[in-house]
Amino acid sequence: MLRALLRPETCAECRQCCAFDGYDVWDTPAIVPEVREKILALRPETVFLTVGGSARFRLDRPDADGLVPCPMLDAAAGCRLGADKPFDCALWPFRVMALDGRIVLTVDSLCEAVAALPFGEIVAFARDTLAAPAFAYAAAHPEAVRPYDPQLPVLVWADDAGKNII
Ligand code: SF4
Repeated sequence: MLRALLRPETCAECRQCCAFDGYDVWDTPAIVPEVREKILALRPETVFLTVGGSARFRLDRPDADGLVPCPMLDAAAGCRLGADKPFDCALWPFRVMALDGRIVLTVDSLCEAVAALPFGEIVAFARDTLAAPAFAYAAAHPEAVRPYDPQLPVLVWADDAGKNII
């Protein structure tokens, strides 16, 4: 989803977004039912937790660096889910959130490759490319929308219907 913004090689070399602080379940992707089925078909032993109404991976113990790789991460090949990866993963470092009763699109500065881009370019990409699919996802899966984190800048707001960009 971010190919117009980042080279695929940049993500492949990094994969920072596929490893988590062992205590930060909040940061793991929301797993909607259709993706959960695909995960269990690939890795039946995967265990899920429910966080804020949506399923999340239960993480294993952290490594020496304090990080736990996602259970779907193959160290050599990347995400085992390929094009079926969770929407949160396809969207990251952008996030769809709920703020004052509206859906908003934000960006997390943890992704150094996106954070290095001109802010105007990030906003334009969010508005022109990501907002429509992100707001449609939020409408279809409201349980997967995170509460707003005030540390993240709001790039795009949805209208009252949660669909159109304002
Ligand atoms: S599901 Fe795939 S893309 Fe998402 S965090 Fe896990 S390995 Fe990375």
